[in-house]
Amino acid sequence: MTIFTKIINREIPADIVYEDDLCLAFRDVSPQAPTHVLLIPKRPVESLDGFTDEDSSLAGHLLLTVPKVAAQLGLENGYRTVINTGTEGGQTVFHLHIHILAGRSLTWPPG
Ligand code: AMP
Repeated sequence: MTIFTKIINREIPADIVYEDDLCLAFRDVSPQAPTHVLLIPKRPVESLDGFTDEDSSLAGHLLLTVPKVAAQLGLENGYRTVINTGTEGGQTVFHLHIHILAGRSLTWPPG
């Protein structure tokens, strides 16, 4: 079990900004931008690599939820979404999450 499952189960606190039957969004504890939110499926999928063809509905739901969360947070000037996958992809928590970053001009390419 990862720390994100504990957040879903309310075993540890988090600043939750959105929740529905399938997913949860909460503020990153170590924000890399003025707004930094993580959107996660409630089901503990390890990473994008853990998705199968059966998960098209969940995967679509997560993507469709991003702009809803962004609108709720007032990110009308834009935002960046990031999904780190695996160790070289920068993933540190092995429960799939979409980073939503906003509130400053984000540079490209990423580090
Ligand atoms: P990644 O490196 O893509 O796996 O991202 C994991 C993210 O989870 C990092 O940005 C961490 O700051 C964040 N994080 C770790 N623990 C917590 C927590 N308890 N509450 C909120 N965010 C967390």
